[in-house]
Amino acid sequence: MTKLQHIINGAKVNGTSDSIFEIYNPSTGKIVTKMQGAGSEDVKKAIDAAHDAFEGWKKVSPSMRAQIMFNYRDLLNKNLYELAELISREHGKTLADAKGEVLRGLEVVEFCTSINSHLKSDFTADVSSSIDSYNLRQPLGVCAGITPFNFPAMVPMWMYPVAIACGNTFVLKLSERDPSCGLRLTELMAEAGLPDGVLNTVVGDKEAVDEILHNPKVAAVSFVGSTSVGEYIYQEGCSNNKRVQALCGAKNHMIVMPDASLDQSCEAILGAAYGSAGERCMAISVVVAVGNEIADRIVEQLTPMVKSLKIGAFDEDGVEMGPVITKQSQENINNYINQGIDQGAKLVLDGRDNIPKEGFYVGACIFDKVTKDMSIYTDEIFGPVLSIVRVENYEEALDLVNKHEYGNGAAIFTRDGDTARHFTMNVEAGMAGVNVPIPVPVAMHSFGGWKRSLFGSSSIHGMEGVRFYTKLKTITSRWPSGIRKGAQFHFEGGKNAS
Ligand code: NAD
Repeated sequence: MTKLQHIINGAKVNGTSDSIFEIYNPSTGKIVTKMQGAGSEDVKKAIDAAHDAFEGWKKVSPSMRAQIMFNYRDLLNKNLYELAELISREHGKTLADAKGEVLRGLEVVEFCTSINSHLKSDFTADVSSSIDSYNLRQPLGVCAGITPFNFPAMVPMWMYPVAIACGNTFVLKLSERDPSCGLRLTELMAEAGLPDGVLNTVVGDKEAVDEILHNPKVAAVSFVGSTSVGEYIYQEGCSNNKRVQALCGAKNHMIVMPDASLDQSCEAILGAAYGSAGERCMAISVVVAVGNEIADRIVEQLTPMVKSLKIGAFDEDGVEMGPVITKQSQENINNYINQGIDQGAKLVLDGRDNIPKEGFYVGACIFDKVTKDMSIYTDEIFGPVLSIVRVENYEEALDLVNKHEYGNGAAIFTRDGDTARHFTMNVEAGMAGVNVPIPVPVAMHSFGGWKRSLFGSSSIHGMEGVRFYTKLKTITSRWPSGIRKGAQFHFEGGKNAS
């Protein structure tokens, strides 16, 4: 069994914390590799390396940084299959899904190949006589990223390519549950030409995170993960004067209007609720059916579709849904299923017996007649369990979505343009879909939720990412030199400003 190592200042090193992480193949339930976690001393070394590398890296021209991103893009394409397999073996998602995740990350890298344009600034000539004004966006210094298990490649790539292309150096703290792909991605950055120390990758738990949050050399922290941890990271990071963005948990609703295409809606629900075994922050976990008639028709059409999902290991032919990440997660989801039954929801499909014996599988379930006081409705389950809530009209559906504590994504399925437009204008969520169940923005746009799905004011990647990883400087300059106006002790309006 190969043991994994952290990558600090270009070297592979063992961790020194007391935590030994056992990394499983969730498809078999067996340990595939182990790793000694990064303790606070290891993280401190990673931060020091990034800090030392910053002075040199910030002076590298954006064109040169972009060239490294071009090289990286080629390497990601060349190693796509290997990267996908590393993800699937430790996460459990299908190979097709893992490839898709790497490709979504790669699109962020492609966005970064144009960093010259993204850093291009405003310039106003002659704001006053012989005075020009312009903006610069300059890097912050050492930035850090703390990432979840469910997208071990895409979420890190939401962060470090943008930060590094903007001229920052980076410390990436990967999830301890599936770190192999993130470590390999770091090696590929070096192969693409990135100097040592610019990207340092460690795997650790709270001890590692706390070093990031308290170390004065860290200027900014990006976090993606659960709401309880994200809220802590946001508060702790801000109280230490860091710029923080924390993208957190979700409960994404999909409203199905009576005029929606039933076939389109059911296919969308199938992929969005059960893809990646529901372990996506943009998974649809609640269908809001407007009217009993459409609700009955969804249940009738969807149930056999979900029942016939092929569940199994990522490398089996034709597999559509894999296991969940850990035994603990499997137990947690099964507890929610029991709570749903106890609280009176109707379990119209119980998939719990229809799963492979080995590994951390959870059968695909559908609950109908779920009400808003039930824990399967209020909580993020992060598993293949769908709740159907029945409402009488569109206003009630929108109100339900808007009153939920999470506001990551929300979708509506309808053929009516007025309703669709009203929904997009009034839904309390950061990402809204019309006849699109998982409205994940592409790389040139930005990803982020509202309410308790995001702490901080910045979404991630796209121009929001560039703004997050840079600080604005505005220059006012007078040329030619030698112009004299005498000392002035009062402000003047723009026309005459000195
Ligand atoms: P998690 O919160 O358990 O872990 C996320 C990161 O925080 C990991 O690196 C982990 O090591 C670290 N961590 C865990 N406990 C900590 C603690 N007590 N103190 C400090 N750090 C700690 O999340 P997860 O289970 O890995 O991922 C699933 C969650 O992530 C879900 O809630 C999902 O909705 C969310 N998620 C959100 C988005 C988004 O963009 N909004 C995207 C992906 C995942």
